[in-house]
Amino acid sequence: MKKVPILNIPISNTTKHQFIEEIVSNIQTNDTPIKVVTANPEIIMLAKENPRYEQLLLESDHVVADGIGVVIGAKMLDTPLQERIPGYELVHGFLENAAPGHDTFYFYGGKPGIAAEAAKKAMELYPQAKIVGCSDGYGGDGDGDTVAQKIEALQPHHIFVALGAPKQEEWIAEHAHRFSHTLMMGVGGSFDVLSG
Ligand code: UDP
Repeated sequence: MKKVPILNIPISNTTKHQFIEEIVSNIQTNDTPIKVVTANPEIIMLAKENPRYEQLLLESDHVVADGIGVVIGAKMLDTPLQERIPGYELVHGFLENAAPGHDTFYFYGGKPGIAAEAAKKAMELYPQAKIVGCSDGYGGDGDGDTVAQKIEALQPHHIFVALGAPKQEEWIAEHAHRFSHTLMMGVGGSFDVLSG
């Protein structure tokens, strides 16, 4: 997949449809997890201010243009992106593409009850997707390590992490070694929207 650099961050240049197709196929073949950052301009600016966070973005497999500001930035730099790929739409896209009886999901993050509510909504919308668990992002299921151990035992194919930036990318980087054949994606406020 081609990448377009924006302020030194390589942004994956593809369409939402192609991105989902490629990642779904890579989950099956990759025994290392696939780390995805859904970047808005705030995330890109945070990377400029914080070299450690920038490194996390550079070490991710994909940074996609979640915000329209990133798409506009690419156009101004004369390296246009094919389209905006919002994290919230990827959440729906991966659930929709789940192979019935096979693909499993874990929802981590948001205020107490929000991930569970979002999971309930997701199962209504996409009965083919099996959501094997959820945890809030405020310690209801323990700290990040405890939640990671809980998820590790389940080995889901998709882990959606809604802790906001930079926490979600930090948690993904710290715990990625626990998983294989897994997509790990930071999804910001997606559970808030899905649950509402
Ligand atoms: N959040 C969380 N734990 C925290 C801080 C934030 O679970 O310690 C959640 C928060 O409830 C919200 C999400 O992280 O659902 C961040 O949403 P935001 O809209 O800030 O995301 P972003 O703008 O980073 O995409």
